[in-house]
Amino acid sequence: MRYHTPSTYEEASAVAAGASGLTRFLAGGTDVLVQMRAGMVLPDDLIDLKKIPGTSEISRTEDGGWRIGVAVPGIALGAHASLKADWPGVVEGMELVGSTQIQGRATLAGNLCNGSPAADSVPGLVAAGATVEITGPDGSRTVPVEDIPAGPGKTNLAKGELISAILLPARGQNAGDCYLRFIPRTEMDIAVVGAAVSLRLDGDTIAEARVSLGAVAPTVILVPEAADAIIGTTLDDAALSAIEAAAKAAAKPISDKRGTTEFRVEIAGVLAKRAAKIAYARAKGETA
Ligand SMILES: Cc1cc2nc3c(=O)[nH]c(=O)nc-3n(C[C@H](O)[C@H](O)[C@H](O)COP(=O)(O)OP(=O)(O)OC[C@H]3O[C@@H](n4cnc5c(N)ncnc54)[C@H](O)[C@@H]3O)c2cc1C
Repeated sequence: MRYHTPSTYEEASAVAAGASGLTRFLAGGTDVLVQMRAGMVLPDDLIDLKKIPGTSEISRTEDGGWRIGVAVPGIALGAHASLKADWPGVVEGMELVGSTQIQGRATLAGNLCNGSPAADSVPGLVAAGATVEITGPDGSRTVPVEDIPAGPGKTNLAKGELISAILLPARGQNAGDCYLRFIPRTEMDIAVVGAAVSLRLDGDTIAEARVSLGAVAPTVILVPEAADAIIGTTLDDAALSAIEAAAKAAAKPISDKRGTTEFRVEIAGVLAKRAAKIAYARAKGETA
């Protein structure tokens, strides 16, 4: 195995583009190193991104959004008061990943690119309308987070492409988001279902919303029907029933040891409804 420590994204991309065998990028390593130790993945080229300047930084963008480096660990997101005030749902998704030890290493980009449909940080990012900056052999481009996962363990990144930053839009006023998951035990398990809601209010009325579900399809999904169910409402009982029904209709989960299809569909509706309530209360400033 060749271990690389590029000092720019372009260099990292060039190494990946020129590699002939199995390539992995190393961010926190909480997926890659576990897979290597288990003998599931034995990369010919391991490209460590942490020596690239800026990978561990969180900064404001010119438009008031956020740029998050690809080696920023969960614990740093949770400790960043302004980011957390803007996007509590995004941060709480990442904070649910693993334990204290895992939090010290695990990154948003790694969580996204590992390609798990149950990845805890991804629904929050999708609901937030987050994008990723991709650096590749043909330069860089920006794409929505929901366009990255292609299926379990797979991404739509082309050979030689890597994520060079996570970008969150400006939050603005009267807005809130939330991520909730259900797991079979209280700590350290994989989401049976995850749901994220981000919304903006005009007075008491929901003017904008995005809803995303995890672990109910081969990839995390954006559910526009669930957003439409609450836009234009004050999240009254009818709207809550409508978002629940839309989330259940969109959920097409598998049955496995963590839950049956029927159970997951039910939980998708419950979590979408609860996440909407919390996002709404956050938008009104009633809760952090
Ligand atoms: C004990 C334990 C508990 C866990 N609990 C959870 C949990 O509760 N919820 C959850 O969602 N996950 C969980 N995980 C999985 C893992 O911690 C997360 O997926 C984590 O966010 C991965 O980030 P990382 O930086 O460690 O990724 P790495 O292991 O460094 O990389 C993961 C994958 O992403 C690719 N990659 C990394 N960075 C980039 C980049 N910039 N561009 C392109 N590709 C890239 C790598 O090639 C690799 O395929 C757990 C893992 C462990 C070991």
